[in-house]
Amino acid sequence: MTDSVCPQCGGQIVPSKSGGSFVLTCTKCPWSVATTDYDRPGFDTSNYQVYIATTGEGPSAKAAAQLAVQLGINAREALEVLKEKRPLSETFSAVEVIRAMESLTPLGFLVSTVPSFPWSVEDEA
Ligand SMILES: [Zn+2]
Repeated sequence: MTDSVCPQCGGQIVPSKSGGSFVLTCTKCPWSVATTDYDRPGFDTSNYQVYIATTGEGPSAKAAAQLAVQLGINAREALEVLKEKRPLSETFSAVEVIRAMESLTPLGFLVSTVPSFPWSVEDEA
């Protein structure tokens, strides 16, 4: 799901749910951590490349302007992201991806990420 590594030995960490807690366990050493707070995208330290597309007809200047406002980027970059199907220049954390999805999806944008996004926006509600 993520490429988290153990802070003690650098081994791979496997997340699992235990009751209401989220437990991260190292596959190589006894390190583990359990928390009720980490079962959420805020724990995800991955950086995502974010791609944005428009639904329906091709990207318009209006769509680019909307995107620019929502993401706080300049309109030229917004238009390039839409037209050239390139990722945003900034990578996003999981929380930022969700924020972008929540603000952009209702406006008719499709938000996708590389690597693919493991969290669903609904889970966070
Ligand atoms: Zn370890």
